[in-house]
Amino acid sequence: MPPRAVVFDLDYTLAVPDRHRQTLLNEATASAGASDIDRDAYLGAHRENLTGETREPIFADLLADRDADADPAELARAYRRTIADALRPVDGAAGLVRELRERYRVGLLTNGPVRAQRDKLRTLGWENLFDAVVVTGDLDAGKPDGRAFEAALESLDAAAGEAVYVGDEVEADVHGASAAGLRVVQVVSPDGPAPDPAADAHVDRAELVARLPAVIAALD
Ligand SMILES: [Mg+2]
Repeated sequence: MPPRAVVFDLDYTLAVPDRHRQTLLNEATASAGASDIDRDAYLGAHRENLTGETREPIFADLLADRDADADPAELARAYRRTIADALRPVDGAAGLVRELRERYRVGLLTNGPVRAQRDKLRTLGWENLFDAVVVTGDLDAGKPDGRAFEAALESLDAAAGEAVYVGDEVEADVHGASAAGLRVVQVVSPDGPAPDPAADAHVDRAELVARLPAVIAALD
């Protein structure tokens, strides 16, 4: 079935922070008076808290038993501000989405708390860029859970078999979308996950804008 809908991941697919995430985390913990948090520990807590309004539960988990005086809500606010300030769109990303919308319904499915992810879209000026935006904080489950992909498909009025998912992470994006019945284009970069064989195609992030329309058309 020819693709009729395209669903994008946000972080490290269409937008990338201009400094390393560990650096951003250190800046946020320093400004909130908390001790440093390891990026891997953060990712573990993030995976356990993919639904919700803010990152406060993530930081509450991380600060438990070690930073009695640090406030998870303050740290969540500091990290949100730090990331929004550091986030940069992939060159030409907005133009790519507009070009694809001439042929397809185009949505965004992003894992994370509602305020954090909506704040990123506001910072990028992308609040009205897509036909539909689904933030897993609004749902009962995040990627790779099939319910996240179903919500995105429903928002675009598309069936799984006529949709293409574009994302960078192996488990959440490639395996999740593939299991949900979507075709998958994995976005790869020098510092990102290795190309996964479960993806239908791979595109370097540096070539995403130039190559993605043809790669999607070739999935017909
Ligand atoms: Mg991503």
